[in-house]
Amino acid sequence: MEQIRNIYCVGRNYKLHAQELGNDVPAKPMIFGKPTHALAEANGAVIELPGSQGELHYETELVIHIARSYEEGVSLEQMVDKIALGIDFTLRDVQAELKKKGHPWLLAKGFQNSAILTPFQPFPGLEACLQTDFALLKNGEQVQRGNIGNVIFDLMTLIQYIGDNFGLDRGDVIYTGTPEGVGPVSDGDVLTLLWGDQKWGEFTARLR
Ligand code: ZN
Repeated sequence: MEQIRNIYCVGRNYKLHAQELGNDVPAKPMIFGKPTHALAEANGAVIELPGSQGELHYETELVIHIARSYEEGVSLEQMVDKIALGIDFTLRDVQAELKKKGHPWLLAKGFQNSAILTPFQPFPGLEACLQTDFALLKNGEQVQRGNIGNVIFDLMTLIQYIGDNFGLDRGDVIYTGTPEGVGPVSDGDVLTLLWGDQKWGEFTARLR
């Protein structure tokens, strides 16, 4: 995998997902990060994940790759050169405990292999993205399906917000949030990431 710099993620960017976890819909983008050590490529191989800290949930997300430094007035096509599908793995029970305490989410979302990525594909433009659903299959059955058209904060809004608040430059990636349908993974599950009908990545979860 080519060198990735910063990993930004967006929480609660689809209304139905915020609601399924009993959360309010945010008024501003809710941004968090993951360490680069969290990255793992969905290339057909086995990926090890934590199996003894309560439920491990998949969150299937469109991931955009940033092509250049952010400045006011740049277009989406200038900012994004590639896209991938990703899974923002989340230890849901750990996250619930952290939320209760008002602590950061890193233990629940930043562990090794928590940031799954398929190989990147050229950015086909926003219109093509709006016309293509992405999906996750678990052992061959569809468990999540989403479309970037249903987000609360669109791609350019996320880019502006992250660029203004944290900086954004070539090699950064943004996990743009999960649609509804998040759920648990078990040891041995085969997870397949689809863009329309195309299989972009697959792996077997090994929980330990
Ligand atoms: Zn997420």
